[in-house]
Amino acid sequence: MQNFTARAEALDAADPLAKLRDRFVPIEPGLIYLDGNSLGRTPKAAVEVARNAIERQWGDRLIRSWGEGWYDLPQRLGAKIAQLIGAQPDEILIADSTSVNFFKLGIAALQARPDRQVIVSDEMNFPSDLYLLQGCVHLLAERKIRLAESADGIHLPPDSIEENLDRNVALLTLSHTSFKSGFVHDMKRLTAAAHDAGALTLWDLSHSVGAVPVDLNGCNADLAVGCCYKYVNGGPGAPAFLYVRRDLQEELMSPIWGWFGQRQPFEFSMQYTPAAGMAKFLAGTPPVLSMAMIEPGVDLLLEAGMGAVREKSLKQTEFLIEMIDARLAPLGVELSSPRDPARRGSHIAIRHPEALRIDLALIREMNVIPDFRMPDNIRLGVAPLYTNYAELAEAVERVATVIEERRYERYSASGQAVT
Ligand SMILES: *Cc1c(COP(=O)(O)O)cnc(C)c1O
Repeated sequence: MQNFTARAEALDAADPLAKLRDRFVPIEPGLIYLDGNSLGRTPKAAVEVARNAIERQWGDRLIRSWGEGWYDLPQRLGAKIAQLIGAQPDEILIADSTSVNFFKLGIAALQARPDRQVIVSDEMNFPSDLYLLQGCVHLLAERKIRLAESADGIHLPPDSIEENLDRNVALLTLSHTSFKSGFVHDMKRLTAAAHDAGALTLWDLSHSVGAVPVDLNGCNADLAVGCCYKYVNGGPGAPAFLYVRRDLQEELMSPIWGWFGQRQPFEFSMQYTPAAGMAKFLAGTPPVLSMAMIEPGVDLLLEAGMGAVREKSLKQTEFLIEMIDARLAPLGVELSSPRDPARRGSHIAIRHPEALRIDLALIREMNVIPDFRMPDNIRLGVAPLYTNYAELAEAVERVATVIEERRYERYSASGQAVT
């Protein structure tokens, strides 16, 4: 292990992004936080943004603040997020949660293909997305969901999806990066295949944005949603974003006709007329305070550059896999993420029959915070803006200690609230 520790130190010393770690609020010394894929850490600048938003904008300026930056916050921040994912500034808005945005765009897409019955997705998709699709089917009737299957629970090759695409498919929707194994779909190829079948595509970028490069325009993607509290570091429950390609904005309709999506909200007309462009996908008053907190995290990603973020992420996940193979595989741990870097996101999942109890021991007595996903996956999230190589080496050593010393035996797997 000495070897890995020394290598980690050298990698940290040569890391061009290492300095960004200090731009986050410090956590307790010795704590290794590997859950940035669930809740990103707090940028120091967010503390100032919060103080300003509460004391000055809300405190002093009160309702005048609507004209001083609140009203167009969904558009202004959307334009910044657009730079991270290859979209135009007027193709992205911040609004609602990822789930609500997914529902709005799912219904919009299905209504735009009224003669087609089928929604294609895959069984590795995030459960909330699958629930929302079931809700769409419940609401619109006469539709059904077809799920492509994964042979190993880790990968889902494009042909298993393509074989489900035919002239009956209205919508193909996938998580670009899978929440469990971290598998990354080939967005360009699958979007083209969906278009060949005449279907629209809706991509969930929650585990990609801020970690894995995305080129929505380059892939000619139709629709997308994504989360701002994971690798974007926008804070717990941060509002999410949605993307509609410019040439579809006129045709598609949001199912939620609220006043913020009305052409002239302050005319208080009795009749709904949708706003032009993206604005009709807003529903009600934006949650200004939590929305403001997104900006510092986006600024850090723009400063780092997604190319550099991806390069570090791949180096770090590669290093993790090498250590897992050398140190943890002999202890019964299996890798549960893709080995092919092109298909790998920014977290590494490992499996062990005692994964839940190992996870509990790591959190309660080893000062490591990973997370656990049923039935036997531990996810180790790598957030290149603040995760360093030394932490990865030390975390692997702590996992090994828990297994070698059977420390997990002190914890009960039943009745635990799962993190
Ligand atoms: C985290 C995540 C979400 C989050 O949805 P919320 O509405 O914010 O709870 C949605 N989809 C995927 C794929 C995610 O990973």
